[in-house]
Amino acid sequence: MELKKNQYLIDGIPVLNLVEKYDSPLYVYESAKMAGQFNRITDAFKDSRVQINYACKALTNINILKLFRKLGTGLDAVSIQEVQMGLKAGFEKDRILYTPNCVSMKEIDQAVELGVRINIDNIAILEEFGHKYADSVPVCVRINPHIVAGANHKISTGHIDSKFGISIYQMTHVQRVIETNRMRVEGLHMHSGSDILDVEVFLRGAEIMFDTAKKFPDLDYIDFGSGFKVPYRTDDVATDIDALGACLSDRFNRFCDEYGKKLTLIFEPGKFLVSEAGYFIARVNVIKQTTSTVFAGLDTGMNHLIRPMFYDAYHDIVNVSKPEGKTRIYTVVGYICETDTFGWNRKITEASEGDYFLFRNAGAYCYAMSSNYNSRFRPAEVMVHKGRDFLIRKREKMEDLMRNQVEVEFGL
Ligand SMILES: *Cc1c(COP(=O)(O)O)cnc(C)c1O
Repeated sequence: MELKKNQYLIDGIPVLNLVEKYDSPLYVYESAKMAGQFNRITDAFKDSRVQINYACKALTNINILKLFRKLGTGLDAVSIQEVQMGLKAGFEKDRILYTPNCVSMKEIDQAVELGVRINIDNIAILEEFGHKYADSVPVCVRINPHIVAGANHKISTGHIDSKFGISIYQMTHVQRVIETNRMRVEGLHMHSGSDILDVEVFLRGAEIMFDTAKKFPDLDYIDFGSGFKVPYRTDDVATDIDALGACLSDRFNRFCDEYGKKLTLIFEPGKFLVSEAGYFIARVNVIKQTTSTVFAGLDTGMNHLIRPMFYDAYHDIVNVSKPEGKTRIYTVVGYICETDTFGWNRKITEASEGDYFLFRNAGAYCYAMSSNYNSRFRPAEVMVHKGRDFLIRKREKMEDLMRNQVEVEFGL
């Protein structure tokens, strides 16, 4: 998004034209930004054989999946439905890695049937899988390296109390299961959570993976997960992807020499690929002065964007109706009957009722986590591609809320 001649533009299109055309609230995605991020990460890892799997739980619109398929990513799917969406979007089976957690064997059987790659993150399931499929279906094993990564404990997954992965201290047991069932382990995986800033932390995780990899002679790939931190505030520091690419590629290639086989290095970013490409726009319904603050109340709430309330996430907010002028301090809130505060004490250009506020970084985990709470409709989604706008999901209507409800005459 850029500010030009006193108006905000997304790939050349004025934001206000988009809300006028598609109404409010509205999610807008910028395909050029997604492609740019994909190119950044592939450039950073150009010295190794790298595959980028888009972690589609961040944003699952079919058009976004198709865009990433065309760019050349694989897919990280965490549910059988995400696998099915990926296949629908045209991803090759062997480019989809299914990484479930706490699912039943039944769902894993479905993934086997669909022919995608399977990542297993607990020993009981690994054992069951081995009894059933032996070496006829290869597996990837998700490891918990026990590194504490990222500042936000709500999105950290690699620590000792995490439900994800199989502890590195249980590798002897894993090997026993693998050997007894004559299973083939084609990949090792780790994902230590979101918002990892330090290249150092990634490299520490990588060393643990290399150590573990020596115990598995049939590997084709090592998947280092994701967790790249992206800037949410203007002064935020992000993961230095170029430095990481240079260091890890070099170390990975040396490991492959030692291992005696050229392996594929996989990353599966969600946030990194789509966070900054998304914008969420909502209308100011009410300016309400109370004894302690001035509230700007929007025509949206935690039903459409829950990250601030759920994770204490920070989303930058700008008044796109008044790009320039004096600022005032607002507490930006939603219309839901809960305390749904998007941000306290934000300096925003002086707002009037009817102005439009825009949230940055609304690509990842925003629409994907939206709900119908308070019986509100979910917003429309628009993709801006090569300077043109496309509706990629309709705004919901009353019949969408009623669709699966069954009205029964119970009598008294
Ligand atoms: C959520 C998730 C990702 C993506 O994490 P980001 O922080 O969005 O990049 C990658 N891999 C797995 C297994 C995940 O669950």
